[in-house]
Amino acid sequence: METAHFSTIVIGAGSAGLTVAFGLSQLGKHVALIESDAVGGDCTNVGCVPSKTLIHEASKRNGHDPDAVAVLAVVRRKRDDLRDEETHQVAHTEHLTFIHGKARFVGPKQVQVTGDDGTTRHLTGDTMVIATGSRPALLSIDGLPTHRVLTNENLFELPYAPAHVAIVGSGPIALEMTFALRDLGSRVSIVTRDGRVFNKSPESVSATLHDSLTTRGINVYYRATPKTYDEVSHTLTIETPTGPDELEDVDYVLVTIGRTRNIDDIGLEHTGVRYDPATGIEVDSYGQTTISGIFAIGDITPTSHWTHSANVQGRRVVQRIAVPWLPVFSNEPLYPNATFSVPEVANVGLMPEQIARTYHPKLVKTLRFDLSKTDKGYTEGLQHGFVQVSALRLTGRILGATIVGPRASEMISFFTLAISKGVSLYTLFRLVYPYPTLSGAIQKVADQYVRETLPTFHKEVVDFVRYGTETLWRRLRGRTFDAPASSATEPARVHTERIGVA
Ligand SMILES: Cc1cc2nc3c(=O)[nH]c(=O)nc-3n(C[C@H](O)[C@H](O)[C@H](O)COP(=O)(O)OP(=O)(O)OC[C@H]3O[C@@H](n4cnc5c(N)ncnc54)[C@H](O)[C@@H]3O)c2cc1C
Repeated sequence: METAHFSTIVIGAGSAGLTVAFGLSQLGKHVALIESDAVGGDCTNVGCVPSKTLIHEASKRNGHDPDAVAVLAVVRRKRDDLRDEETHQVAHTEHLTFIHGKARFVGPKQVQVTGDDGTTRHLTGDTMVIATGSRPALLSIDGLPTHRVLTNENLFELPYAPAHVAIVGSGPIALEMTFALRDLGSRVSIVTRDGRVFNKSPESVSATLHDSLTTRGINVYYRATPKTYDEVSHTLTIETPTGPDELEDVDYVLVTIGRTRNIDDIGLEHTGVRYDPATGIEVDSYGQTTISGIFAIGDITPTSHWTHSANVQGRRVVQRIAVPWLPVFSNEPLYPNATFSVPEVANVGLMPEQIARTYHPKLVKTLRFDLSKTDKGYTEGLQHGFVQVSALRLTGRILGATIVGPRASEMISFFTLAISKGVSLYTLFRLVYPYPTLSGAIQKVADQYVRETLPTFHKEVVDFVRYGTETLWRRLRGRTFDAPASSATEPARVHTERIGVA
């Protein structure tokens, strides 16, 4: 059998794989890009693009007279157009050979590709990049027929809005789809085994989202699990802390309980690469696996869960392969995240529970300012939203930030830059903000920090040395602090005054 040789073989044409394939081929490297399904991977086909289009299109209807059929058709058209464009691009990029088929390692630098018609071919590469992504984790519910199960892989194929969707899970995908389906006119119930929605964010985020959900008539069943489904009556029975409960007229169950990495059938055992089926392929911060010349990026790795992280990892691999003499940094980049719920939620840096385990509680100040108390929020009649920042005492070094509100996903970059570059709350205090803007809340947080720090500067110095030393001492001994009950990690004060014009 003939074996073709390439400079780099990329497996998977999703966000991660495309970044490397385009990046290297534009630098003149001969690249083979292998994809078993559609170009664009999850993001273009069944993830970010259709979900954000649905959110946007459905919100325009805002529950009034939703033409769900038309909205869903727009979602598919926009998704298809983008996929066609990306497919055209891979087919017409110089030095890039696109191969449709399923790749499986047969040696560390050799793959066998099986085409749709069953034919196989072998390819070898100087370097290999694994970017096979992830798929939805599934759940079995007694009596639930497969045609009533939705995941992100078939949700956007619905021809019309479901009558009543039970969404299992309460992470970002669950929340985004809850609000979008509600806007589309569906009744939505959330069934989550957690005690609060979006439990990786601060509690204040969960509380805000809970309010927003219930205001829209969305029932949330906490600490609950789905048990059985009755196909005759369309009843989903769930187990709750107070006993069984019945959700009636459920026509679909959307499962959003996590992701499973596409690791199992790609022949990793022939590579020597170290991996854990639960967390993915072990890599350094430049995607290098434990075997030289084999890289892994995107959802298949433990550190990436988003398109922007897949993209950054891809760019780092391009650098590592194409310009190996450029210096590399051992640290992971700082990844912000954004959830396009109502309101939007964006986080960057350490979250309160991580801070509570890493730092002495008296070394950190957490401050929050409600967006509705800014003049911009007031003029817009905002009901929800806030900026919350955790920073070290005395130095003002920002450890983590959360923004909840309109365009939080845009505003969070402010803090991504601040944390990455060590910009302190003193600098944000001196910055001039246009008036009136929601980012005025950032200034308010910085104002408050300075107001609480400068008048008692001596005490701040003493406490910083005392609690900083204790923190350092624990860290040197590899010990963490006991994370307090989560409410204790919430901000000490919630400020309610309105930003003045002065
Ligand atoms: C509903 C939803 C909404 C999302 N929204 C956002 C968002 O708003 N912002 C954000 O940043 N992220 C979002 N994400 C996450 C984002 O989609 C993923 O993190 C990203 O797509 C991962 O890219 P990847 O290249 O690692 O994997 P994928 O996009 O999954 O690509 C992997 C590709 O590899 C192919 N493949 C697998 N095995 C083989 C094989 N053996 N041979 C050949 N090809 C193979 C697959 O077919 C696939 O095309 C969302 C995800 C979902 C599910």
